Amino acid sequence: MAANNFFEINKRLDMDGFLIFCYWSRICHLTRATQYMNLRVCEIFKSIQGESSYAGLPFAIVRLTGCNLRCSYCDTRYAWDEGAEMGLNEVAQRIMSLNTKHILLTGGEPLLQSGSIELVTRLSEYAYVVLVETNGSMDISVLPNKVIAIVDIKCPASGQNHMMYWDNLTRLRPTDEVKFVVTDRFDYEWAREICQEKLIGSCKEILMAPVFGSLAPREIAEWILLDDLEVRLQLQLHKYIWPEAMRGV
Ligand code: SF4
Repeated sequence: MAANNFFEINKRLDMDGFLIFCYWSRICHLTRATQYMNLRVCEIFKSIQGESSYAGLPFAIVRLTGCNLRCSYCDTRYAWDEGAEMGLNEVAQRIMSLNTKHILLTGGEPLLQSGSIELVTRLSEYAYVVLVETNGSMDISVLPNKVIAIVDIKCPASGQNHMMYWDNLTRLRPTDEVKFVVTDRFDYEWAREICQEKLIGSCKEILMAPVFGSLAPREIAEWILLDDLEVRLQLQLHKYIWPEAMRGV
């Protein structure tokens, strides 16, 4: 483009046009950097975040396909194999079109796909708060510092706690959160011991969530209070808002 033309065009841009220009510049920068990578994506949608200390906020949520665990209470089995290949640029554009400040990458297990790291790295360079929910079996040190890890520690009743990558407990950053999904009293006591011996003070939040329909919220609330345990009781907010079988929420 000739220099004169460029300045002519710029002169004609009003403020709305300028903002649109900035928006497309962001997308173009992001897409140039990631155009040759793919992700296997189960679903992308906008919803109220149901878990973590960010529960209640509007989020753009990307659920990736594939999981290396088989938890007894899994409520997203469809994410084990349903989904389609998408280029990272297409994923980024879908996320940006949802117009949220917060983004969650979840699964399945998002850290199984190397494209995840590239995607969250690029997104976190802009004014987004980016969370990655991981099942605790993968090394979280691959995540950039600006990205917040929400790390599951699988309790015995999940049937998967032998799959945990325990070095993660020493790799938590001050912004990260840890989550125990508790099925029964045995799970609770197991989680309490880990909290007291290894976790308190090591991350931003320790979350304890009862398995929906298996453990009454009141019961675990009373255990936490009796033990003076410094954890945040977490109910899966989305399950109280939308029907349990509903997808994309
Ligand atoms: S890690 Fe998550 S997606 Fe994978 S089996 Fe467990 S609950 Fe389901």
